[in-house]
Amino acid sequence: MTKSQASAPTLAPQLPESPALPCLGADTGLPVVGGGVRKRVYLDSAATTLMAQAAHQAGERFLPHYASTHSDAHLSAEIAHHALLKSREAILRLVGANPTDYVVVFVGSGATGGLNWLSRALRARRPAPGVALLSTLEHHANDLPHRLSGAVERVPLVDPNTPQSGTQMAALADAITRANAPIDFVTLTGASNVTGIMPDLAAASGLCAEADVPFIIDGAQWVPHCPSALASLDAAGRVDALVFSGHKLYAPGSPGVVVLKRTFAETLPLVDAGGGMVESVYPHEFTPLKNLPERLEPGTPNLPGAIMLGAAANALSKQDMTKLRRTEHGHLLRIWEGLQGLTGVRLYGPDPSEVARTGCVPFNIKGLPHGLSARILSDYFAIEVRNGCFCAEPYVRTLLRDEMLALDLDPDDPDVVLRSRRELGLVRASLGAHLSTDDVEAFLAAMAEISARPDEFAANYAEVGIATWQHRHFRREIDALLPWQ
Ligand code: PLP
Repeated sequence: MTKSQASAPTLAPQLPESPALPCLGADTGLPVVGGGVRKRVYLDSAATTLMAQAAHQAGERFLPHYASTHSDAHLSAEIAHHALLKSREAILRLVGANPTDYVVVFVGSGATGGLNWLSRALRARRPAPGVALLSTLEHHANDLPHRLSGAVERVPLVDPNTPQSGTQMAALADAITRANAPIDFVTLTGASNVTGIMPDLAAASGLCAEADVPFIIDGAQWVPHCPSALASLDAAGRVDALVFSGHKLYAPGSPGVVVLKRTFAETLPLVDAGGGMVESVYPHEFTPLKNLPERLEPGTPNLPGAIMLGAAANALSKQDMTKLRRTEHGHLLRIWEGLQGLTGVRLYGPDPSEVARTGCVPFNIKGLPHGLSARILSDYFAIEVRNGCFCAEPYVRTLLRDEMLALDLDPDDPDVVLRSRRELGLVRASLGAHLSTDDVEAFLAAMAEISARPDEFAANYAEVGIATWQHRHFRREIDALLPWQ
């Protein structure tokens, strides 16, 4: 099969002195083993990003006028209404879509809400049940909702025989040709939340245009890292919806976002209803509004969140997503090269100088279970990473196939479940626009120390639950650190 993915090798890395996007919490001091405090290095942006200062300021400026948009006749509601409009515009600008042809719908608290809603609406659109095509790379949020709403077929976008490789778009072409039921929609992640690999969305959108099937992009790990140029992608092929999470776009507490092509949005049946989306309601009938996005947004919107998200989107556009991508790529290459040079560190996924990846670096340290590596990074170095399967279990299982087979588990061993849980997982360092070159170097220095003497670090820990470790002598006083007492 031919291999194809978005281009990476030609991307010129660029490393500015200071972080690309000023964020709150990038300099927080954390107590560490041995006493003292270290500046935290936040490497968990794929889970949720820090808050852009611009988003925080927008929230602070809005709250003295806080009111609901649906109360039209007072000044504060007018301000809320206009601020919300401005946010929708800023989001469209960020993703390269114009307000004439696209509409922003806020749903739930992340991409999960948007994907569940879209899935139900898309299935309800068809008189007879069809099939949804999705890839083997997907986050559970772009997999399980579609299993709940109907039949799915999983497209092996990464060859299971060469799991550390990039994507093979021919697998999607095959799946579209072979589908033995009408295709309700095709959906792919813009970038994996495990390895950051990026399927060739232009190729996918072309295939969907040819087959005349709706194409939905899960942009949760793509929009915050790359210029998304939605309208151009759609013009050259077909993209009907782009879904992402505001809290992964430097605006914690903001809603999930679904950017819809208007012509497509008009074909979506109502699957949710409530206040704010109707023209008139009688005991036995009601008339929904025709105008978008109101028709598709029942209930009181998460106004402060949406407004802070608009401010974050605006700040990112001003920073220029192409520049941000180059900076992140520079950090990624430095981390990859640095970790590759350490004995005992195994990296997963293809080389980012050869295959397009966002800043997600999954790894394991020889001799340390993934959960213990993450604990040590936090306790000793104030470095915050995630570990486990990252809600993308099928892809992580594929990546770890060799290690799992090598475990040679005895099914009669009472510790068999524990042993497999301990081993089935990765550590993930995920990058964000708040990072400085010093942060990257601090991470590499910590990794050098840990991988040089894993046993020494491990000896200070007790396993206190299934794959959960606690330092024998060091505890952080969590109560004193809580935001209110
Ligand atoms: N899609 C991808 C690729 C993700 O990484 C995530 C979250 O990590 C989601 C969807 C779900 O996002 P949320 O938890 O914000 O709803």
